[in-house]
Amino acid sequence: MRREEEAYAAANPRSRALAERARASLVRGVPMHWMDQWPCPFPLHVASATGARVTDVDGHDYADLCLGDTGAMFGHAVEPVVAAIAEQAARGSTLMLPTEDAAWVGEELRRRFGLPFWQLATSATDANRFAMRLARVATGRDKVLVFNGKYHGSVDETQVELAGGAMVPQHGVAPNAVDFARTTALVEWNDVDALERALGAGDVACVLAEPIMTNIGMVPAAPGYHDALRRLTRRHGAVLIIDETHTISTGPGGYTRAHGLEPDVFVLGKALAGGIPCAVWGLSDALADALRAYTAQDGHQINHFGFGGTLAGNALTLHAMRATLEHVMTDAAYAHMIELATRLESDVAATIRARGLPWHVTRIGARSEYLFRPTTPRTGGEAADARDPDLEAVLHLYLLNRGVLLTPFHNMSLMCPATTVADVDRHGEALAGCLAELTA
Ligand code: PMP
Repeated sequence: MRREEEAYAAANPRSRALAERARASLVRGVPMHWMDQWPCPFPLHVASATGARVTDVDGHDYADLCLGDTGAMFGHAVEPVVAAIAEQAARGSTLMLPTEDAAWVGEELRRRFGLPFWQLATSATDANRFAMRLARVATGRDKVLVFNGKYHGSVDETQVELAGGAMVPQHGVAPNAVDFARTTALVEWNDVDALERALGAGDVACVLAEPIMTNIGMVPAAPGYHDALRRLTRRHGAVLIIDETHTISTGPGGYTRAHGLEPDVFVLGKALAGGIPCAVWGLSDALADALRAYTAQDGHQINHFGFGGTLAGNALTLHAMRATLEHVMTDAAYAHMIELATRLESDVAATIRARGLPWHVTRIGARSEYLFRPTTPRTGGEAADARDPDLEAVLHLYLLNRGVLLTPFHNMSLMCPATTVADVDRHGEALAGCLAELTA
């Protein structure tokens, strides 16, 4: 690690100078503290990014498999989106009024994802918060049920974890004054009995779930689990919110369409407007009615009702989203992305085998992840036990020094429509080199 840190420092003098300057005015020297979570001695500063390629301020180029931690999952500076952003910026970005794109986007979301009615938010975090709130309106209950090891954004009520079977405030998350006993139920993923017990209490307004867990390594749904989840939420009157923010990697209609899920609410954010902050939440007829009825009530002096935001669904976002849906998130793009992700998956599996490591690699469409345990975990708890931050750090820095960017938070890699076989092979060679040295 020391050798790699020294190599990084020697190779990146302009990034170092910018990082030192920024430390005088930005907390931790970055505009948002996550940007300082890469395992580098100081943050890499970027000059430009196009397609799957990033160029830093010292002139190195990278195969970007991080892709903005999914925010740029369809590539950087993608031509139709760049044109759409320029076009709309020149004719007004934010109006508190809809434009022609609104109905087009609503119709396309309905066609693509199956839910009949839609609203926009500024981030997936916000969309999840609004969906939970609406579930409370519709059910008259307080609790959100989430799964140990989840991440759905900085949503206060979800900031819990299991410790010795008990729900406790999540380690490393700032205190948020939420009474979790009132607001939250927490169970392990793939545990049908625990889910049934928690829902059986009759106080759960909604279940908030990714279709497979992606934020603690990847934890797939066991056969039959989604059927049980849908059956039990229906039986116990809980709204089922499926958060596809990461699993949109599965295909153009997300995991939901690929596997015939039937959520009451469908949430998607990050990459949907080519990097312009955005999210969408789709609603069943019943929930759309509940939102309509609630927001049509008399007697409210301030008519925000707890949902929405000034910049949500603005003209710029809608135009960029339309371009992304129409020209970028296509069947052909996904076919390419998934083919390359499959190549990366088999590369990694071969390297793991060759080195005799007790690791495995998983993939969901265009997203792959390697985890430091021999088999796929069944629960977030099992996945968490396999994390090794020091090992992750050395792997990531080693790859970065050889021109490959992985998302800093775990060993996740994404393919975009512009990713090439050469990019995948660059990753494969760097990983093989790193593991050869580590196991020597
Ligand atoms: N849902 C999921 C599944 C996520 O992984 C994330 C972010 N990693 C979010 C929601 C929140 O997205 P944002 O930070 O853009 O609000």
